Amino acid sequence: MSEGAVKKEEKPRKFQAIRGTRDLLPPETALWNHVEQTAHAVFGTFGFGEIRSPIFEWTELFARSIGSNTDVVSKEMYVLGLQHDNPTGLDLAHRRETLMFMSVPSSDKSGIDIFTMQTRKFCSDYDAALGKELVYADVGTKVALKYLKDSISYLVDDLLEQTRAGDWQERFDRTVALCKQYLDLVEPTIALRPESTASVCRAYIEHGMQQLPQPVKLYYMGPMFRRERPQKGRYRQFYQIGAEVLGGGDAPAIDAEVIEMVMTFFDRLELQGVQLDINSIGDGNCRPKYVELLRAELLKVKDKLGPDSQRRIETNPLRVLDSKVKEEQSIIEKLPRIADHLCEECAAHYAAVKHQLEMRGVIYRENWRLVRGLDYYMRTTFEITAQGLGSQNAVCGGGRYDGLVELLGGPPTKGIGFAIGEDRLILSLQESGKAPAQQGRDVYIAWMGERAHATAIRAAKDLRKAGFSVELPPVEQKFGKALGQADKLGAKYALILGDNEVSEGLWTLKTLADGTQKKLSEPELIKELRKTR
Ligand code: ATP
Ligand code: MG
Repeated sequence: MSEGAVKKEEKPRKFQAIRGTRDLLPPETALWNHVEQTAHAVFGTFGFGEIRSPIFEWTELFARSIGSNTDVVSKEMYVLGLQHDNPTGLDLAHRRETLMFMSVPSSDKSGIDIFTMQTRKFCSDYDAALGKELVYADVGTKVALKYLKDSISYLVDDLLEQTRAGDWQERFDRTVALCKQYLDLVEPTIALRPESTASVCRAYIEHGMQQLPQPVKLYYMGPMFRRERPQKGRYRQFYQIGAEVLGGGDAPAIDAEVIEMVMTFFDRLELQGVQLDINSIGDGNCRPKYVELLRAELLKVKDKLGPDSQRRIETNPLRVLDSKVKEEQSIIEKLPRIADHLCEECAAHYAAVKHQLEMRGVIYRENWRLVRGLDYYMRTTFEITAQGLGSQNAVCGGGRYDGLVELLGGPPTKGIGFAIGEDRLILSLQESGKAPAQQGRDVYIAWMGERAHATAIRAAKDLRKAGFSVELPPVEQKFGKALGQADKLGAKYALILGDNEVSEGLWTLKTLADGTQKKLSEPELIKELRKTR
């Protein structure tokens, strides 16, 4: 038995696509192409250029930008280590990851114990693995490891002894953040991108795009990865089409034009039941005060809220507004609204964005409960829903993120963008029957005989050059079978080439819908086909 052959008793495993991923197949892929071509066309008319960034980046890029307390980063990211080729390396990488994304509030005594003990254990195990050359370490790693040990010692031996000092909490938070930074340097990991805004900002900085005429307008399309619970409209590999405007100020007209562009795109695709919701979530000046007010109000009604919302009062009170829990709705309706607590600048900006939308004929609905899941948003936020999607009905989310480029080490830069969920967009188009029908073949060449085969090959070449889709059977078929096959493939015409046709120089073109036939010379054929296009 040859090496590659499968032993008889072993049934070969049948592989299936991994849960949450799927194959996109014809004819559906034609619709995907149509959607993407429309995006290229529409975004081009708004002066946007395409960026194609890598599918993986340093984990830290996403942790920094999206925020390590968000679900996307703490639970849903596909993180890949650099030295996962042995069990020790793998285990250390996992433990490091857990520590890096562990939330360590200063009030949680046992949480602090777990964090410090596990970090110390991690350091000594890492040292041991280094000794056995099970993991790799460059100079940076070694230095980071040393600083990590020092920081943990400082935390345990000094800081935890002086919890009464006035600035204790501040110093504690700073030290924990520092530990996490060192942990990250011990072995930088990479992650499959859960979204693309961070990559676009990274590229803007890396290529010095602030030197270009501002604003820089970029769009992208491609797969994103999130380890979520798969369901209709929610996948682990999904596709986004998005755009970003970077630099050049924060004029409300920029916000409005970006929104106008998405709406134009959806309009061009004839997407049905499109509903645009907008909101302003303030900025670093007014939002924190509102969040505190919201937290205080939420604490008063804490007992009436479900466990998710109760938890969010601490971690992210804004997300409570997102709640879909029925019993919470009447409570949420009575909470203070951010629109009443915006600072003067944010309020003026919001009013101007609305005015600009009206000037562009864009219909919107104000939704004070619209907050975005990612940390970096500020001021204008928007979401677009469409019909036929059940509870996963958001097809586009977007907003302004003025601090993001700076957060990633670039110059202060204004930014706004959106991301469309292409999978959901396609689902909605299909549900509403707006998906254009797949183009069948134009011509099926039914040939018989050696001479006819040569002519058929030449005819196929000429027809394809003229842009027609041609099916040329690789082996001779009886005409009856060929016509049946042509029918199944949905061909419009059968071109019949037998001995007679070839010697006469007159080819038979049969219209399959009505069975009519025409005799045509070679030059007449293409003219005839063009007429009926
Ligand atoms: P949702 O609230 O539906 O989880 P989100 O706030 O996580 O969305 P964003 O990160 O803003 O979504 O991404 C923009 C768009 O990408 C969403 O409006 C949605 O259409 C799409 N999207 C997000 N996650 C997925 C997924 N797992 N599968 C398919 N599409 C997704
Ligand atoms: Mg989500």
